Amino acid sequence: MHRFLVLFCFYFFISCSSQKQSDLILTDVSIVDIENGEIILNQLVAISGDKILATDDASNLGNYHSERIIGLDGKFVMPGLWDNHIHFRGGEELVESNKNLLPLLLAFGITTVRDGGGDITPAIHEWNDQIQKSKLDGPRIFTPGPKLDGSRPAWEGSISVSTKEEALRALDSLESINADFVKIYDGNLTKEAFYQIIEEAGSRGLKTTGHMPLSADLMEAVKLGLDGTEHLYYALKETSSIADSLTEAGAGYGMVTPLMNTYDHDLALESYQKLGETGFYVTPTLHVGKTLAELLITDHSEDSLLNYISPKIIETYQRRLNSAKRGGDSYTQTRSLWVTSFSNMVKPMYDSGINILAGSDSGPFNSFTYPGLSLHKELELLVNAGLTPQEALITSVINGPKFFGLENQYGSIEPYKMADLLILEQNPLEDITNTSSIYNVVADGKWYSENALNDLMNSIKNN
Ligand SMILES: [Zn+2]
Repeated sequence: MHRFLVLFCFYFFISCSSQKQSDLILTDVSIVDIENGEIILNQLVAISGDKILATDDASNLGNYHSERIIGLDGKFVMPGLWDNHIHFRGGEELVESNKNLLPLLLAFGITTVRDGGGDITPAIHEWNDQIQKSKLDGPRIFTPGPKLDGSRPAWEGSISVSTKEEALRALDSLESINADFVKIYDGNLTKEAFYQIIEEAGSRGLKTTGHMPLSADLMEAVKLGLDGTEHLYYALKETSSIADSLTEAGAGYGMVTPLMNTYDHDLALESYQKLGETGFYVTPTLHVGKTLAELLITDHSEDSLLNYISPKIIETYQRRLNSAKRGGDSYTQTRSLWVTSFSNMVKPMYDSGINILAGSDSGPFNSFTYPGLSLHKELELLVNAGLTPQEALITSVINGPKFFGLENQYGSIEPYKMADLLILEQNPLEDITNTSSIYNVVADGKWYSENALNDLMNSIKNN
């Protein structure tokens, strides 16, 4: 009897007390180590709350306990995707339509987005809050709040900045809403106001990115502390010897084609290296550029994703469509040249140490650039531009968090990192299009089965 009790206690100890308790265990998985470009076979991932508790050899499953253990038959587990440039906007009228983009993003494996700023900030804060509390299905959202622009802002909801006092007040107001970063826009922002915003934001420890007035000098802005730029127009200014004269002539965006036609490889490389040394970030947004270039020659009427985008958002697509129609053939020709020229900039920028960010620019107004799918398309175009699949993945899941100094919390399947996972049928390091072979998603520790992902899509389908 005594001996039996000892044995009982011994087995109890092995089977219960020493087992690591977790809420969810994914086992028999292949972990995609994006940083090192390797696949680690036969693993398990134990999740507790919203964090990864442990990764281990699947043969050690007995050391773990969970009410929910899911065998995944060798499927690939990578960190959830980051879309580093997206838009929620369009005013009160479009709040619900924007909210419906959240399940769509999640269904495409996107567990974090960086919003480009807009006019529905309070709604975004509320969604983020509900998402954290598992009351709403969607990616976590980093948002700058309103954009900062000049006296006549290009977009609704922006804060006008013309003087130093206005720059200070604008940043006070962003700080009061805990903005995650500062998004700058160039409706008619002066270069002086632009520099003031950057300098002041830097001294407050706020990250800055966005558009740049083309009257300004990128290297000067970087010296003042600019952290990044969205789109490739601004880095393009550093690639041609006629940039200064075009700037002095006030050419604005009229300088884009001439700059491309006088692209100087040596000068470009020298500039990229200088930017790379400062840890600069650039979001190329290639897919939206290509989609716009092809607006007049692509028939989108049968796009299946139109069924999942609210009619109110589809209406906003008309604006860019109309401007393309006004431009006609020359719009298409000019934009096609831009597609090629911008694509050619990406690989040398990456190799020079610039932190490239994958961002789709999807959202209202950016015609037929569908939230979710468009980030996968962006990754494909980054690979077409010369990046390896591993490098393209780095621009999404590693550089995204790095911009915010959060690399300790995201970017790999390791203990203590956030439990945001994308589970794929196929290896994304072999072929970037495999990011679309989505099987399951884990967002903030919550598991979405194939059925759950289908339910997310059905929940937003138009009648
Ligand atoms: Zn944008």
